[in-house]
Amino acid sequence: MPGRIRQKTKSIEETPLSKIARRKFIQLSVVAAAGCLLQPGREARAQDLPRLSEDDPLGQAMKYTHDACTVDPSSRPNPAADQTCANCALVQGADGDAWRPCQIFPGKVVSAKGWCTVWSPKP
Ligand code: SF4
Repeated sequence: MPGRIRQKTKSIEETPLSKIARRKFIQLSVVAAAGCLLQPGREARAQDLPRLSEDDPLGQAMKYTHDACTVDPSSRPNPAADQTCANCALVQGADGDAWRPCQIFPGKVVSAKGWCTVWSPKP
């Protein structure tokens, strides 16, 4: 047993600091390179987000729907027929995309034709 401990201690002592630093540098370089290769563009990330479900509890609380046409305009907090996610101040992403991120539902995308009670006019 003491011989085994002495052997391990010896192998650690024999590893020069420059060799450990080089190994760590190579490991970090591989991780950094992988991060650069795997980092998609902003648009690709939005497309990778899951779509908000109409069954989502927060979505239901905000009466979110994929199709604004299914909501009676007179029942809206700010009655108007032309309210959709595409013309809401809280929508993000690129104009013309069918599904876009929304500040109210982080990590998910909403339908450009959708609507919820938080709809706000763009300034
Ligand atoms: Fe659509 Fe605006 Fe509601 Fe987000 S806040 S779901 S963009 S209406």
